[in-house]
Amino acid sequence: MRISWNQYFMTQSKLLAKRSTCTRLAVGATIVRDKRIIAGGYNGSIKGSEHCIDEGCYVVDNHCIRTIHAEMNAIIQCSKFGVSTDNAEIYVTHFPCIQCSKSIIQAGIKKVYYEIDYKNNPYAITLFEQAGVEVEQVYVNDQILVSNEMSEFVNSLLEKLATTLDEEEYNGILVQAQKYFQIKGKKPSL
Ligand SMILES: [Zn+2]
Ligand SMILES: [Zn+2]
Repeated sequence: MRISWNQYFMTQSKLLAKRSTCTRLAVGATIVRDKRIIAGGYNGSIKGSEHCIDEGCYVVDNHCIRTIHAEMNAIIQCSKFGVSTDNAEIYVTHFPCIQCSKSIIQAGIKKVYYEIDYKNNPYAITLFEQAGVEVEQVYVNDQILVSNEMSEFVNSLLEKLATTLDEEEYNGILVQAQKYFQIKGKKPSL
């Protein structure tokens, strides 16, 4: 199955989020121009500094101030390497904070795709509207990276469980499995 551009770029951001060094929230951001990835970032420590995953978060006013945000990192990467962000699009795993929203607008980015609602800042929404920046929520199907072989394996395990577990227990596991794998599921044979 061929995935859409939105699925592809958002999956890239979700992958970047897995590089995050902050234990409070893992965010990834991908900047795209003409369907080409020009930069990516995740929330992490400043060069040379300690990581939250090693030292704990540095919390001030209920925010971890040790890290720089994913969107900022991606935008700064463009400035570092001299790549224009004008008219670009950004794919972020979480709705951007107010500071990142302002940077996104000033960088000339014209569209923000995000997956997860996260303290969606009403002032950021206003600023996006005033600047003519489009905002769209994109849901990523997490089954994109699951192979048929993996699904088949889980299916065979479920078939075995269907003969040993009681119905309630089995259905609980089946619902969980169906979230991650393409599985029809069998009724328990008890
Ligand atoms: Zn942190
Ligand atoms: Zn931010």
